[in-house]
Amino acid sequence: MPTLNKIETEVKCSECGQAFQDNIWFRPDGSQVGTYKKCFACREKERQLNKEQELQVKLKETIQDQLLKWDDECSMPAGFSCKTFKDFDAKLQPKAFQVVKNLKWKWQDGEGINGKDVPPKSLV
Ligand SMILES: [Zn+2]
Repeated sequence: MPTLNKIETEVKCSECGQAFQDNIWFRPDGSQVGTYKKCFACREKERQLNKEQELQVKLKETIQDQLLKWDDECSMPAGFSCKTFKDFDAKLQPKAFQVVKNLKWKWQDGEGINGKDVPPKSLV
């Protein structure tokens, strides 16, 4: 395999402006492989950022998948899955209304030990 020739050169990072050493490589046919535009630290930062963005997208997809799975497995009829008690007509279901009217459905944010959220009392 033919060896490549190189010239060591100083490059100014296009991101942070800091000077760094890199090589320009020459192929046997005379063509060149240029230097990096960004210093090692900036390239590493860029890599981390890209990875983080990929993971964020993956996390969103996973959450969506999980929600769909829960929706599938909860056996709740579709007509009820988005219902709240906002428009609940107590006169039509007086017995059910008596049972649920005093239950605390809301989470108590930060009310628990060490500032943890407390689930609705009806669920514990
Ligand atoms: Zn840089």
